[in-house]
Amino acid sequence: MSLRSANSPSLSRFAWFVSGRAAAYLWPMSATVQTNPFVEKAPLELYVPPAMPSLVGLTRAELADALGEAGVPEKQRKMRVQQLWHWIYVRGVRDFDAMTSVSKELRAALAQRFTLARPEVVAEQVSADGTRKWLLRLPGENNERPHEVECVYIPETDRGTLCLSSQVGCTLNCSFCHTGTQRLVRNLTAGEIVGQVMVARDRLGEWLGMERIKAPGLPTEGDRAISNIVMMGMGEPLYNFEAVRDAIGVIADGEGLSISKRRITLSTSGVVPMIARAGEEIGSMLAVSLHAVRDELRNELVPLNRKYPIAELLEACRSYPGLSNARRITFEYVMLKGVNDSIADGKALIRLLKGIPAKINLIPFNPWPGSTYECSDWEQIEKFSEVVFNAGYASPVRTPRGRDILAACGQLKSATEKLSARERMALRAMAMTD
Ligand code: SAH
Ligand code: SF4
Repeated sequence: MSLRSANSPSLSRFAWFVSGRAAAYLWPMSATVQTNPFVEKAPLELYVPPAMPSLVGLTRAELADALGEAGVPEKQRKMRVQQLWHWIYVRGVRDFDAMTSVSKELRAALAQRFTLARPEVVAEQVSADGTRKWLLRLPGENNERPHEVECVYIPETDRGTLCLSSQVGCTLNCSFCHTGTQRLVRNLTAGEIVGQVMVARDRLGEWLGMERIKAPGLPTEGDRAISNIVMMGMGEPLYNFEAVRDAIGVIADGEGLSISKRRITLSTSGVVPMIARAGEEIGSMLAVSLHAVRDELRNELVPLNRKYPIAELLEACRSYPGLSNARRITFEYVMLKGVNDSIADGKALIRLLKGIPAKINLIPFNPWPGSTYECSDWEQIEKFSEVVFNAGYASPVRTPRGRDILAACGQLKSATEKLSARERMALRAMAMTD
């Protein structure tokens, strides 16, 4: 099914599930988050593998084991892995029969046991400017209740950013985030995370030997359609560590999808004990959802702060393996009107980050049905970003590109005008990949 929508409200940032179905899972936010102590939901749903597992998303070692199951002798496995890797991740084949350099017998043996399936695309939304959003269906428990996650593609003229989900829902309950209100939580498998990239490439035609789709707003043939990945969809990636690590390993593999770890950003709400491990074992760029400069406020916005307060979080950031001026941590700061957007907050933010090679990403709040916050006025965002800019941080909303985008929407000059969905997306993608 293909849904074409020029300006869907849910295209705005990565606010998930503005659909009726998800609305049924809404928690009474104000009551739950603001009055309760730290609440963390337990994952409710388990992954039940399909009868025929997909080879998509397996590490090279796991793929070698799978080949072993299909009768490939150990000595040949490395070479066969190499062949399959090319067919799966460079050519994007979905059928073993297309693997013409692989013997017919092996193709048949593989097809008896495995598939090359990716998540099923339930709906596709294409905005006028080329932004695409896919609603993907994943198997639920006992194949009874399928889960859905979204994957968003934000193209720019010379690059494209794909935003991936790591969990269905999220066990954390950030008070400004729609995902946290979802009741269902299940970790995605590495295959389902890599599968989102496969789906996006399928839909964009970005495989060797395939014709890229041409549409307004998409990068041209000379540039990669998907050049950057952000783990900023649903879920807390560091609560699904192994799957995220393995998936990023597959996505970054230079002989396959080949999106370098410098172009992959993992966003965390601040799971302090996992940050060092993320640096060592994943090695992607890191973004930290800070959103507040005082523990009291951060406890309310990001309840995980009660477990890992700001000082501990920043200490973990200071010692993030590989941190340097060339490899900075992005601090995300959602602009909430009258909550965290004062000039004093801006100055405190600068003081707090002193000494950490950092980028600051101001995110206009994206409201959702039932949310209790409002997005800061544009004038206030500009003032705040000036504080950030004057302290020497490239402030995304001040870049020429940002200005272009803002200029495209004249009303933004007005103090009370809210950002449109498209501008939020554009600013965000730009901030993450600049
Ligand atoms: N769980 C991870 C990654 C997914 S959320 C994390 O929290 O970092 C990705 C980013 O979107 C985070 O910075 C999050 O705080 C922000 N975000 C969530 N809901 C938002 C909303 N309604 N408006 C703007 N940003 C939001
Ligand atoms: Fe949303 Fe991220 Fe908080 Fe989870 S950790 S509720 S995805 S902002």
